[in-house]
Formats: sequence, structure tokens, C-alpha cells
Amino acid sequence: MLLSAGENLMPEIVSIAEAARRRAKKQRSEARDGARGKTLCRRGFHKWIIDQRKQFDVRDGKLVTVRRCARCDAVKSSLD
Ligand SMILES: [Zn+2]
Repeated sequence: MLLSAGENLMPEIVSIAEAARRRAKKQRSEARDGARGKTLCRRGFHKWIIDQRKQFDVRDGKLVTVRRCARCDAVKSSLD
């Protein structure tokens, strides 16, 4: 989309500004949840949350806690 605010009529400027605001908001949201988080994940700083569905798996007679990364869906488990 080609935008040049100075050449547009007022109603279009308003709608374009609103669209730009929404786009910027969406991009900020994606940046917060996406790129920055995945950078952390690539460096090994995952955002581990306990996977409730698998929290009570048992392996070799021991309780297994399964943690899943909220950002990239990586999984790790530990014997607690
Ligand atoms: Zn991750």
C-alpha cells in the first residue's frame, strides 16, 4: 500500500492513521510475543511452564514433571 499523508483527503488520512495505529499495535504485540522471545529461546532462555496435561506422567516409577516453553513449544521433563 502506497501512503503519502500529505496528498490524501482528510477522511482517508483519518482511516489511514487508524489503520497505522492498529498495525503498530499488532506489530508491538508480535514483537513482544514473537521475535524477542524466540531470540531468548535460541539462546536457551525458554519460558518454561508446567504442562498440566502431562504433569502426572510416570516414568520408571517416578513422577515426571513436563515443562513446555510458552513461546516456542519446546518440551523438557524432569523427575521430581
Ligand atoms: Zn522456548
